[in-house]
Amino acid sequence: MRNLLIATALWLLGAGIATAQRAVITASVVLDGQGGTLRDTQIAVENGKIVAVTAQANSSAKAADYDLRGLTVLPGWIDAHAHITWLFGKDGKNAGMTGTTQEDAYQAASNAWVTLMAGFTTIQSVGAVNDLPLRDAIAKGKIPGPRILTAVEPLVGKGEATGTPEEMRAFVRKQKEAGADVIKIFASQSIRQGGGMTLSQEQLNAACDEAKKLGLRAVVHAYKDAVRAATLAGCTQIEHGTLATDDDLKLMAERGTYLDPQCGLVIENYLQYKERYVGTPGYTEEGFAAMEKILPMNHDLVRRAMKTAGLKVVFGTDAVAGAHGRNAEEFIDRVRDCGVEPMAAMVSANALGAEAMGLGKEIGTIAPGMQADIIALDGDPLQDITAVRRVVFVMKGGVVYKNVARGAVPEYAGVKP
Ligand SMILES: [Zn+2]
Repeated sequence: MRNLLIATALWLLGAGIATAQRAVITASVVLDGQGGTLRDTQIAVENGKIVAVTAQANSSAKAADYDLRGLTVLPGWIDAHAHITWLFGKDGKNAGMTGTTQEDAYQAASNAWVTLMAGFTTIQSVGAVNDLPLRDAIAKGKIPGPRILTAVEPLVGKGEATGTPEEMRAFVRKQKEAGADVIKIFASQSIRQGGGMTLSQEQLNAACDEAKKLGLRAVVHAYKDAVRAATLAGCTQIEHGTLATDDDLKLMAERGTYLDPQCGLVIENYLQYKERYVGTPGYTEEGFAAMEKILPMNHDLVRRAMKTAGLKVVFGTDAVAGAHGRNAEEFIDRVRDCGVEPMAAMVSANALGAEAMGLGKEIGTIAPGMQADIIALDGDPLQDITAVRRVVFVMKGGVVYKNVARGAVPEYAGVKP
């Protein structure tokens, strides 16, 4: 009897917790993340997951905890390419991703906070050792931020000096042991220096193959010829892709290789904060002159990519210091400057972005069983893409981090690099 009473008490306690963690959202317009639109819907969330998506007219649905009618509701966005620990130092200058002071740690936490507030509930950071404690602190709920996947240390191609294929395999294994969720490989120089190949086909084959053997994806920074080489090596995703030919894009579509190009934000951000970058490692006046020429090449790449049948183009910003929390600008660039359909832009950061990360059954779609990563915009991004700047509601894993009155959000409130 006593055991039964304890069991009942525990059951009641459990039920109490479950009830407290249940929430119902009412929405008039829901983009489901896969290209579909639902109208007059209730989304029930329990224990961090979506448990039901029902027509609002259903009389059994209880009153809403969050009334998001009049807004556009969609899955939290996914940024496939960010550098979440990249920051400006105390002197205001570019300090890269290796800072170890308390100021650096707080700045990295701030980067995570503003990224989440901007509607990004998952990001892939590629990559830095400093990502690991930030990823883990957020995952444990100690500080707010997007779910982070990290490459830890990237494999930087330096020609023969990179090492033998066996040494490269060892490097990939070392990242896995350190806790990498993905492997990042640099197969080209920076486009500012011409974008030439820095790894041979044999080296690329070894690195991508080792990642696959470990059950990890390989994402490859590649321009020009390196795009084809990385595709042939069986990598998962090409980052940037500038100056890829139409044939390269066709080959990627045939092989199912994802493309993560950048249409604007990363270069616009560099130009905006030029004085904070020039003179720091890797950033010269010549490099900045080159960037202005690269921007139209990137627009051209995205236009051609969107016309390539079957090519899967995901959303990645390459957010560096100054760009965190402004990730959604890349949507505007893609639609305005690169001819991307607004719905395709949304899906690239929802279901397609999730699929590319191997998380298609977890995030990126509003459906029962998915993580409750739900955001709302004050406006309709399909009619006016600048609505992506007006994120008024952010729920990640069932926890609400932002819920402000519509019209009350100045663009990127609080984002001051
Ligand atoms: Zn990058």
